[in-house]
Amino acid sequence: QYVETHMVEALDNGEFKVFYQPKVCTETGEIVGAEALVRWIRPDGEMISPGKFVPVFEQNGFITDMDFAIYRSAIADIKRWMRDGKKIPTISLNVSRQHMRDETFPDKICALVDNLGVPRNMIELEITESMLTENMNRLLDIMTRLKEAGFRISVDDFGSGYSSLNLITLLPFDTLKIDGGFFLRNDLTEKNKAVITSVVELAKNLKLTTVSEGVETDEQVTFLRELGCDMIQGYYYYKPMP
Ligand code: C2E
Ligand code: CA
Ligand code: CA
Repeated sequence: QYVETHMVEALDNGEFKVFYQPKVCTETGEIVGAEALVRWIRPDGEMISPGKFVPVFEQNGFITDMDFAIYRSAIADIKRWMRDGKKIPTISLNVSRQHMRDETFPDKICALVDNLGVPRNMIELEITESMLTENMNRLLDIMTRLKEAGFRISVDDFGSGYSSLNLITLLPFDTLKIDGGFFLRNDLTEKNKAVITSVVELAKNLKLTTVSEGVETDEQVTFLRELGCDMIQGYYYYKPMP
């Protein structure tokens, strides 16, 4: 109720801020990407984590407005970094399932990016695995148009739900992001290692880039490096930051 009471004023007041969590190259430790993650900062400075409001916004539909506010901030940041001559890693944006029901989503996001003069290939769109249960024809159509428009596309949370092995071959993904759930326990079990190894091999055979998220320990990093997982995102390297 708190979330629903305050969401409209929060959007108007610019209380939804973007934090970035770097993704590093497993081999070199260099920052090669960053995921844009929303944070709700109330006027008194209190920070609310997305787990508390994103599910509510997904229910009541407000997520599409919030997402576009985040996209706008992130794209404006990229624009500023370009102007300052900074080296900019690929920036990933989270795409809620509501957008994948909107045939005009590709046009909307293209308009936003083009208006600010940011090259589309600097942006990756993260589409969560659980979305692969949506209407297939529409999903394929929207994703193909996003891909043809020049965005990179990532399957997020891979392995968290009903991973559709068939759909990852049909849909135009560039990147496969292995769900943080595999790294929740600080010690990797033999079974976990077996699954992660197979997923990375599968992704390589499909010519997909691999990212592991939620990585926190030395042991996990060493394992992923030996395995040849391309990128790591997790507290081991960096937390999300303003
Ligand atoms: P996600 O897309 O799977 O994002 C990764 C989450 O894992 C983030 O939580 C991040 O802070 C957390 N994380 C990263 N590294 C570690 C680690 O080493 N250990 C642990 N324990 N956690 C780690 P966050 O920022 O709370 O976001 C939660 C979820 O909220 C996201 O999950 C995403 O589904 C959603 N979300 C966040 N920002 C947006 C947004 O702008 N739009 C939409 N539609 N959803 C968003
Ligand atoms: Ca994500
Ligand atoms: Ca994820």
